Amino acid sequence: MASIKKRLEANIKGPFFVDSSCINCGSCWQINPESFTSTGNNAYVYSQPKSKRELNKALLAVIDCPVNAIGSANDIKYDQPTEDFPLLVTDHPEGKIYYNGWSSRKSFGASSWLIRKESGNVLIDSPRWNKPLAKKIEQLGGISQMLLTHKDDIADHSLWAKMFKCQRWIHEADSDLAKDCETKITGLGSIYMCPKLNLIPVPGHTQGSVIAVLGDKKQILFSGDHLWWNRSKETLVASKKFCWWDWNEQVKSVEKLLYLDVEWLLPGHGFAKKFRPGEWKVAVEDFLGYC
Ligand code: SF4
Repeated sequence: MASIKKRLEANIKGPFFVDSSCINCGSCWQINPESFTSTGNNAYVYSQPKSKRELNKALLAVIDCPVNAIGSANDIKYDQPTEDFPLLVTDHPEGKIYYNGWSSRKSFGASSWLIRKESGNVLIDSPRWNKPLAKKIEQLGGISQMLLTHKDDIADHSLWAKMFKCQRWIHEADSDLAKDCETKITGLGSIYMCPKLNLIPVPGHTQGSVIAVLGDKKQILFSGDHLWWNRSKETLVASKKFCWWDWNEQVKSVEKLLYLDVEWLLPGHGFAKKFRPGEWKVAVEDFLGYC
């Protein structure tokens, strides 16, 4: 639970605050950029919620925070958000896409996503294990398969797999921390995990990083930590600083994605982004031009 004694100075006066246990993972300002932002070292509240909708989003940020660093005044602390995780992001012809929230410290607050598909639901990376989300996912049809995009974002995958008896996929080059995964992806060729969900190995951030692409047109790209959107600079970003394996290989792996038809980029970290037709290719070309 956040502590008022550890309330950061940067917070604007009002009921919601961030305390000094914040690890600057970004989950709160990605889900609620109207109230939260970052100093570069930690998050803080720059605008208190003014409407019911903003209050709801702030309460969701409290749940999402992986280290309980967001506090609120006693009278609203026990309010339940009217809309709850998993949150619907978009309704694609190949499946509804949800953001799971409940980020885990074990994954440094990385985002995880659920695809509700006719052939069986797919979890992309693992949220923090918790019963409320498990119950909601059960109501949505459970989990048939799980992709772990790379070894950093595996969080509580074993607990989710135990609950839903799903088949887990990870690249063999990243499987040292998730040895019990049922399916190991090998090599650099793409492979279909299930109908219309293509897995593409993208070595770079880690040797075994893999992305998932849903659909043939207006695709949904689940990018793990391979790349994400920078909202203030309006650019695609991959991080050389946080590249754990090989930066040149990571850039080459971004080139592979030039000819996709991406409508939504849903990353592990950083902002999600909806692209207009033609914008994706320009964004990738711009990224490669700067490398
Ligand atoms: S979600 Fe929590 S840990 Fe992450 S940036 Fe916000 S306050 Fe900090």
